[in-house]
Amino acid sequence: MNYQHHLRAIASPLPAGKVVCVGRNYAEHAKELNNPVPDEPLLFIKPSTALVDMRQPIQLRLDHGPVHYETELAILIGQPLTRGQPDQVTAAIAGVGLGLDLTLRERQSQLKQQGHPWELAKAFDGSCPLSPFVPFEAITDIEDCRLQLEVDGELRQNGSSAEMLTPVVALIAYISQHFTLLPGDVVLTGTPAGVGVLQPGMQLTLRLDQVLELQTSVRV
Ligand code: ZN
Repeated sequence: MNYQHHLRAIASPLPAGKVVCVGRNYAEHAKELNNPVPDEPLLFIKPSTALVDMRQPIQLRLDHGPVHYETELAILIGQPLTRGQPDQVTAAIAGVGLGLDLTLRERQSQLKQQGHPWELAKAFDGSCPLSPFVPFEAITDIEDCRLQLEVDGELRQNGSSAEMLTPVVALIAYISQHFTLLPGDVVLTGTPAGVGVLQPGMQLTLRLDQVLELQTSVRV
């Protein structure tokens, strides 16, 4: 469960920071939840207490309704970035990995209906399992890399960053217009279609291009 441990896997130790996330960055996913596509990125933040190591079994709490998985490309920030231009954004990326944006979907629907913030549905303890990160240089093209999730051997999510409504570098530049990103912060870039409910006993396999593959499981 030690998040620091795998940050050290890529480089010098970085503190565990905030996670800045974007909603509805893939049109097909917005459609599957009957959400309109936003005209600018829809941002929310998970605190550092949301972070857990994805290689450990995902600990599910069942007392707040169903928890959905959302597989997302995760970008680890290595340098401070405020109001960044594209070249500054790429210079600030330390690593690339995968994250799960765990979501209490019924709670989120209620909050949306009420016009309330999403934190109770998105920012709870353990709501952001992260893979280890590979160095940015290991990725051939950040704007066209493939992320996949298999659940019990069946492909459930399969998308490319090329399908994002706001591409990776532009998204991070946009985020940094509003929130300074610091070393150890992580950006989650949105989920492709195919989200669904996590159940105890599920075996998950996540892949990023040819550079990262990991297995994990779900338990209560
Ligand atoms: Zn998400």
